[in-house]
Amino acid sequence: MKRTSIRSLAVAALLSIGSTITLHAEEPLAYTNEIATGVYSFGGGNGYHSMFMVTDAGVAVFETVNSEHAQALLAAIREVTDQPIKYAFHSHNHWDHSSGGKVFQEVGAQTVMHEMAGAWLEANPGRDTSPPNVIWEGDKHEITLGDSTIELHYLGLNHGLGMTVFTLPETRTAYIADLVTPNRVMFSIVPDFNIGEWERTLGEILELDFDVAVCSHNELPAEEVPGGCTKAHVQEEQQFISDVRNAIFAEFEKGTEAFAIPKTVKLPQYEHWAHYDDWLELSIMRVMLDLWMGPYPWVPES
Ligand SMILES: [Zn+2]
Repeated sequence: MKRTSIRSLAVAALLSIGSTITLHAEEPLAYTNEIATGVYSFGGGNGYHSMFMVTDAGVAVFETVNSEHAQALLAAIREVTDQPIKYAFHSHNHWDHSSGGKVFQEVGAQTVMHEMAGAWLEANPGRDTSPPNVIWEGDKHEITLGDSTIELHYLGLNHGLGMTVFTLPETRTAYIADLVTPNRVMFSIVPDFNIGEWERTLGEILELDFDVAVCSHNELPAEEVPGGCTKAHVQEEQQFISDVRNAIFAEFEKGTEAFAIPKTVKLPQYEHWAHYDDWLELSIMRVMLDLWMGPYPWVPES
């Protein structure tokens, strides 16, 4: 596990003295780090983390994010290898993840997404999205690149549409978008998450074969971020969701007025997590509504 380049002098200095400063989106941190042989995490300094795998048959990219991020990612790949980029995989439909594919299409890569994400993007194109070259269907798909396998897992409704978790069995690595966010409370108003299905999915992620993953959002201390996240962080995410739900149910039991609950639930054990101060209350409101109205969004299985 070699740190290949940390392209921020300030952060390199912090790393060298073992600082535990928490990474926030506003603190520029761009890095490339080899988390397993030929598999790299990449941080754009914008709160988004991608992954790429280098093989003798070309490069596979996971999560293009947007054109600016994709250009920086392409430059980082070119610092590591001259191999052609063969694939750029999108995790799900949301514009803040699925934009920027054109940067890799223009250098000859095929962009890939699940059919549900593709259908949504066709109906709802973003300013920086481009139609994918490859659409895959069903719950599982495999793509081979040289001697390496890329496993694509659709684990059902959880967040967005067509959410895909990627595993690379030869290196026991994975890419996970939005579903696991180490050291961070739930995102804002928890948009487009089905809370119960999210918990179920986390259980299924724990069953997948990997040791280390790149998580699209990661608020671990700066020196730990480039190394990616592990199943311990998947379990922490499960625990956090469970703690939020149980705290809300406890207030229901006490007879607390529903719309007072977001200000009542404090969960001090998560005070050190990023965005505790600005997002927790918003998140509690969303989860409270989910527990009050019933889970949403939901659609019958086709
Ligand atoms: Zn999303």
